[in-house]
Amino acid sequence: MNNNHKYGIVLHGGAGTILRENMNEELEKLYIKKLQEALDSGYAILEKNGSALDAVTAAVNVMENSPLFNAGKGSVFSAAGKNEMDASIMDGHTLQAGAVASVTKIKNPITAARCVMEKSAHVLLIGTGAEEFAKEKGIELVDESYFFDEMRWKQFQKIKEIQKIQLDHSDDKGEMINPEEPFKDEKFGTVGAVALDKHGNLAAGTSTGGMTNKKFGRVGDSPIIGAGNYANNTTCAVSCTGHGEYFIRNVVAYDVAALMNYKNYSLQEACNEVINTKLKQQGGEGGLIAIDKNGNIQMPFNTKGMYRGYKLQNNQTGIFIFE
Ligand code: ASP
Repeated sequence: MNNNHKYGIVLHGGAGTILRENMNEELEKLYIKKLQEALDSGYAILEKNGSALDAVTAAVNVMENSPLFNAGKGSVFSAAGKNEMDASIMDGHTLQAGAVASVTKIKNPITAARCVMEKSAHVLLIGTGAEEFAKEKGIELVDESYFFDEMRWKQFQKIKEIQKIQLDHSDDKGEMINPEEPFKDEKFGTVGAVALDKHGNLAAGTSTGGMTNKKFGRVGDSPIIGAGNYANNTTCAVSCTGHGEYFIRNVVAYDVAALMNYKNYSLQEACNEVINTKLKQQGGEGGLIAIDKNGNIQMPFNTKGMYRGYKLQNNQTGIFIFE
């Protein structure tokens, strides 16, 4: 995928143990439809000369509003039985960034992250402070019950039983948490989007409910600029999904950009080095999506699957789930 494109959007809906044998046709169709809707909403903005930032925000909003993904409406439960969400966004043109973490009442955390970037002097706001800020700025807040999802609750109860903090899609053996009904369809995940607009500006956005049964105010990589999300017009835009602790320690999103910047790696070489060499050696499960300043794209992952898709100039498009 090394053709040059003048604009385009790439997105993910999470990586993990997503196996064809555990997926039913109907659910697969639902995922594809929602990913297509997210791609189309971002692409329409780019096509009309809109900004990469707007495209990324729109695409992430679509996925946040769907219970299919572990972000916004479909967020997983923390150990306290709450939905504690994280999100971040970065503008590759200005290198401005905004993020929120551990928020429980913001309907679209990515929108709040963008508001932090554009309307505050800060980068990362957390918890009730972030919610107070969002309220002040007219961002939609909802009752915590909005985020309740039956399937997620059952997943949480099951995981509580085995007392673990774990990646959304996998157990510690890299298998589905419980392949039996009603859990066999749990294939939810963090969402993210990266885009290049007609003006040559890059942006990246990531939104998540984090990891099921997370404790003590745990925050993952998604709202950490450079770890789960990064954009810089001189190199690329990156959004990650996977075991957040590994992504934080390896500063994954920034590392991809740094390899391009300092070592002149191509986007493909940089992504491959980080996901398939560095992280794999450490047992860090996950993947990322990336687009560079020339419109080259990459969607690498070292898990069994990753919900992903792209839509580039001239309507070149593709949606994939499995390896
Ligand atoms: N990266 C997210 C986290 O660790 C989880 C995910 O990608 O599903 O919070």
